[in-house]
Amino acid sequence: MKTYHIITIGCQMNYADSERLAAYLDSRGFKLGNDVYKTDVVILNTCGVRQAAEDRVYGLVNQIRKYNEAAQIVITGCLSRREDVKKRLSDRADIFLPINEVLALPKLLDGKKFQPRFSLEEIRLEQGEKYLDILPKRSTSFTAYVPIGNGCNNFCSYCVVPYARGREVYRSAAEIIKEVRGLIAAGYKEIVLIAQNVNSYRSGSYDFPKLLAKLAAMPGKFWLRFFSSHPKDMSVDLIKVIATSAKVCGHLHLAVQSGDDRILKAMNRRYTAAQYKKLIKQVRAARPGMAVTTDVIVGFPGETKKQFANTVKLFREVGFDMAYIAQYSPRPGTAAYRLNDDVPAVEKKRRARILNDLLTKTALANNRRYLHQTVEVLIDGRNRRGKYSGKAAAYQTVSVELAKSKKTKNQIGRGAGADLIGEFVAVKITKARPFGLEGILAE
Ligand code: SF4
Repeated sequence: MKTYHIITIGCQMNYADSERLAAYLDSRGFKLGNDVYKTDVVILNTCGVRQAAEDRVYGLVNQIRKYNEAAQIVITGCLSRREDVKKRLSDRADIFLPINEVLALPKLLDGKKFQPRFSLEEIRLEQGEKYLDILPKRSTSFTAYVPIGNGCNNFCSYCVVPYARGREVYRSAAEIIKEVRGLIAAGYKEIVLIAQNVNSYRSGSYDFPKLLAKLAAMPGKFWLRFFSSHPKDMSVDLIKVIATSAKVCGHLHLAVQSGDDRILKAMNRRYTAAQYKKLIKQVRAARPGMAVTTDVIVGFPGETKKQFANTVKLFREVGFDMAYIAQYSPRPGTAAYRLNDDVPAVEKKRRARILNDLLTKTALANNRRYLHQTVEVLIDGRNRRGKYSGKAAAYQTVSVELAKSKKTKNQIGRGAGADLIGEFVAVKITKARPFGLEGILAE
């Protein structure tokens, strides 16, 4: 029996893919190994969105090959289709396989190192199963990532995803509804719908607002989240569902990427800064207190100081709760790769720092609104000193102290010393930090 180990780099989509892949390998007689340097098969589920993530893969492959010479190394995820990556790793990695083809993996592994017995084309012909039909091996018993689709049709000029994952493919609403129903029945508390563009979902008579409303109407106590949304697909109907469904968490992740219209055009984002700001206003008017997080790129080719100032202005006006600030790095194969990467590294760093400083202020101001309030928290961990941590519905990380003087209802209901991991608890917020909250278990 061959043992395997999966190393996941990147986004939630990759983590969800790894859960599916692990379940599939288990069902085909493979066994999860606990030491990457002793397992027979090491799979790297890669990310090519930034150069740093790509470099990590090269480092890992070198290290694994050095200390586990006999391992079959498999590259899946974003980098698996890149010809330059295949060439660079051809003497160290054995198999390059796009994630939606991983059903072929057991057969490909059934050969010698660097020499699969069958070609991918041969295997493809005999397979009737679909990758998205695999039921994943969940890594927690309370949060479940549910991919509703894969791929992207948008071709933002800086992004590798449409090339790495292919065009958009969506699961049927019936399949998704069945999976979510099963998860709720099994006691899952947080259902996270994921796709590259979750809100461009379409299958039969279902679009994303209809699917979300259907899931939110299911009985039971659970939260619904969804990642990532594209501004161009934020419809009035979706805003209505967000506003009216209490189970949909009060948090929207909406990538803005830039606050300057010319840069947005060069990025092929298909909205303007004004349209983005209007959307946020509509969402907040429909559901007051909605937390908004974003992705932004600084130093896109040709971005002038004036254009960057427009992003600063947008950050100031929107007041984000969190932002993933990336310094532009050219990605081979993308349209922007041909452009002159002319913003010096030191300037990109400076721009990232300016946004980060601003974000720290707006996030802290937003989090201060929760001071002395009681919020619901889904506990997901506990440190050595007994302090719990979890996530609030608005996606802040919350550090939770147990009440010292007397037992709270939260504790009494569950018995002294009860493990709260995977439970919803009420927490009275005592401290606001820029990127988190602190509190004690409420009465
Ligand atoms: S919408 Fe743009 S940034 Fe997002 S995955 Fe598609 S191409 Fe990439």
